[in-house]
Parts: sequence; C-alpha cells; structure tokens
Amino acid sequence: MSFPGESIYWHEGQAPARGVETGPPAKVDVAIIGAGYTGLSAALHLARAGRHVAVFDAEAVGFGASSRNGGMVGPGLHKLGIAGLIKAYGEERAVALLREGLNAVDHLEAFIAAENIDCDLVLTGRFRGARTALQCDALLRECDWLRDRIALPTYPVTRAEQRSEIGSDFYRGGVVYERDGGVHPRKMVLALAERATGAGVQIIAPCAVTGLRTEASGTILHTTGGRVDAREVVLATNGYSDRRSPAMNRRIVPLETGACAVGPLTPEQMADLSPKGRMHGESGRVFMWYRPTPDGRSFIFGGRFGAGNMGPEARQRAYRKAICRVFPQLENAPISHFWSGLIAMTADHSPHLGHHDGVWMAGGYNGSGVTRSLYFGTKLARRMLGEADAQTAFDSLPFNPVPLRPFAPWGANMLVRWYQMQDDRELKARD
Ligand SMILES: Cc1cc2nc3c(=O)[nH]c(=O)nc-3n(C[C@H](O)[C@H](O)[C@H](O)COP(=O)(O)OP(=O)(O)OC[C@H]3O[C@@H](n4cnc5c(N)ncnc54)[C@H](O)[C@@H]3O)c2cc1C
Repeated sequence: MSFPGESIYWHEGQAPARGVETGPPAKVDVAIIGAGYTGLSAALHLARAGRHVAVFDAEAVGFGASSRNGGMVGPGLHKLGIAGLIKAYGEERAVALLREGLNAVDHLEAFIAAENIDCDLVLTGRFRGARTALQCDALLRECDWLRDRIALPTYPVTRAEQRSEIGSDFYRGGVVYERDGGVHPRKMVLALAERATGAGVQIIAPCAVTGLRTEASGTILHTTGGRVDAREVVLATNGYSDRRSPAMNRRIVPLETGACAVGPLTPEQMADLSPKGRMHGESGRVFMWYRPTPDGRSFIFGGRFGAGNMGPEARQRAYRKAICRVFPQLENAPISHFWSGLIAMTADHSPHLGHHDGVWMAGGYNGSGVTRSLYFGTKLARRMLGEADAQTAFDSLPFNPVPLRPFAPWGANMLVRWYQMQDDRELKARD
C-alpha cells in the first residue's frame, strides 16, 4: 500500500507526451503556468490558433489534481445549491449558471469524441443517496426544479427501489443524474498533453515559475530554467497556487482532499456494490463520493474526511468507517492505495475565469473541476483570441480575493469539522 501520495492511476495510461523536459524558450506569445486540464486545454486551443505557447509545470504533466481526482464528470451544479444560487444572483442568473454545467458536459463529450481520446469516458449516470428522509425530500424538490428549469435529465429513486442502484440499505432513497459519468483522469490529462504538443505547444516540466513581472510590452517570467518573455500569461495552478502565483493564490483557498482505492474485488462484488456501474455520491455537508475504477476491478472512495493533518493510521480508520457505514460488506476488503491532492475553494463558492492583476486565469473549481476545467480552459483561450462563443455565464461574477486569506485554510478545516458534527447529529437522529 502506498501513502501518502500514490494515486491508483499513476502507473496506468500512456507515457507522458513527447516534448516535455526541454529547456524553456526565451520568448513566447503565451506562457501557461500549470500542466493540468485547465492549462493544457487552453494551450491546445491557443496553439491551434497559431500562438507560440509554452506550458510550465513545477513537477510533471498532470502532477496536480488532474491525475489524482476521482474522474467523476457531470454538470456539477453549484456548491451554493439552488436556493443559495437564487438568493445570491436571482433566478434568471441562477438558471444561466446551472446551464453552463450542462454545456460543460456537452463540451467534454464532444471534445473527447472529436480528438479521439481514449480516456474510458462512460456516461453511466450518478446515484446520489439521501442520508435522511428530510434530505431525500430536498433532493427530490431540487430534482423537479432542475428538470423543469434547465432540462437536466434526472429521476427519483425510492428507498424500496434503491437496491437496483446500490448494494446498500444505508440511504433513504435518492436521485439519479443521467448526464454524469466518469473518465480515467490520468489518461485524459496525458492525452491532452499529447494533443497539445502535437499542435506545437512546448511543455516544460519540471520547471517552476518562481516569479512574474508585468511590463508594458508583456510579462517577464523567472523560472527554474531561466528567464522567459511572454506577451500574455495564464495562471492554471488552481489548488497548487502559492506565493509564486499570487494573483490566483489570493483568490482561492487550497484544501487537501483525499481518496482511496478498495480492491482488487471480484466481478460479483463489483456488481453488488453498483449494479449499473454508476458513479455515486450522497447528501450531507461532508459527503463521500465513490465509483468503480475504469478497469472494473476496484472501487474508489473519496471526500474531505481522512484528509488534513491526520496521520496514515487515523486516515485509514476514517476511510474504513465511512466506507463500512454504506457498505458493511467491505469490512475486510483490502485498501490498495491512499492518496490526496489539493483543490481550490473560492469565497463565493463559484469557479472563475477572466483577467485579473495583469494575467489571465481560470480555476477555483471548489472540488468539481474535471468537466469544468476543460471547458473553462477552452473558453478562456477563446476569450484571449477574441473569438466568438467565448462567453460564459460566469464571466460577470467578480473574482474577489478571499478575506483574511492567511487564516482561511485553518478556518475552512474548522468549518469542515463543524459540518461533520452536524452531519453526525442528523444521522443519529434519523429513523
Ligand atoms: C483527490 C481528488 C479527487 C477529485 N475528484 C474529482 C472528481 O471526481 N470530479 C471532479 O470534477 N473534480 C474532482 N477533483 C477536482 C479536480 O481534479 C480539479 O478541479 C482539476 O483537476 C483542476 O485542474 P487544473 O488543471 O485547474 O489544476 P491542477 O490539475 O491541480 O494543476 C495545477 C498544476 O499547477 C502546477 N503549478 C503550481 N504552481 C506552479 C508554478 N509556480 N510553476 C509551475 N507549475 C506550477 C502544479 O504542479 C499542478 O500540476 C478532485 C480533486 C482531488 C484532489
């Protein structure tokens, strides 16, 4: 078993694209910092439009969340929930923001097909279980609203029908979101890198950008490989932003989130856990997500529990407890991998894209960025090029710095604990 870092995906997928590990060019049209989905999708679009593009990653292609995530794709909805969104922006804008989630899935599906990318995309749907009867009622109301207002394909599952979705009696019914599914995250990021280098993008990794200075003619980047002059810069560092990427860093709160793989499991066990091979989630404030691996031999579980400052044993216990609450039949199943990565939270719980403090940026996906980052990377590139169809409903949302930023990670971790306590209380009180 590997800890703390090795994602189950890391030894799968093709070798990194050719063109990495070359030295940085002295001059480029666009320098992109971060070789994950956001940076690479922007790079690909810009290079195909004739721009000379270099992508820098401090570590390796896909080192960040883009090869550590669960690979669950879908419209993603919004962290504020429907009521929260309407309260913050009014109903019309809420509808427009939510529709972007569906646009992003359409984009992902079309892009993967057009590029002929082998990343195990399946749109098998997601079953979201309700932990309490009250939460089930709320989910069903949301489900009706989403069907009516944004034509999201979704349907309710009663407690009596639940065994057709999941090998568990833990939930009080739930909802199926039919436009959700999964990809193999590492295959997807490596294929993006391959397409980008094929289009002429130079990927330079490992090579950290250690500082930026904006001048009238462009930006000077200081990198561990030397100086680079760029006409424009894109920050695609998301949860891996730090003092070296201050414009993004002051606008997001990086948080650690973890995952583990349980397996290998037999085909019978896999079919028992998820009879339809769906993605899975649940209601609640600190929730667990889980899915079968693309090879159908293991299950991945993830969430905000078992991350943060916990040691390996405590982390393993937290995972086992959360998993066995839903699937007691996995009590003795082997946990083969544990890993974690960084996500980026924002003050308004929305992802953002735009031009701030002299640089372009896209990020702040609040933990749901696989579908969104590919979409935002492409939209950002379109905007930089002045192309038609560059707009998104997110363009007009101000991307404000996080108040009291140095204390925000601590505050966010405290909030997670508080939420967890409330979740536990509700679970104890349920019938
Ligand atoms: C455990 C886990 C599970 C997740 N599961 C899901 C899921 O199932 N579905 C979903 O939608 N989302 C999920 N996410 C979120 C999703 O993975 C991210 O939103 C998405 O990958 C963000 O992509 P990105 O390209 O913006 O950033 P990243 O992939 O994080 O890339 C940022 C890159 O920037 C580089 N970098 C940072 N600073 C510098 C510098 N100074 N110089 C050079 N390079 C630098 C880093 O090395 C890193 O590679 C998950 C995240 C984690 C951690």
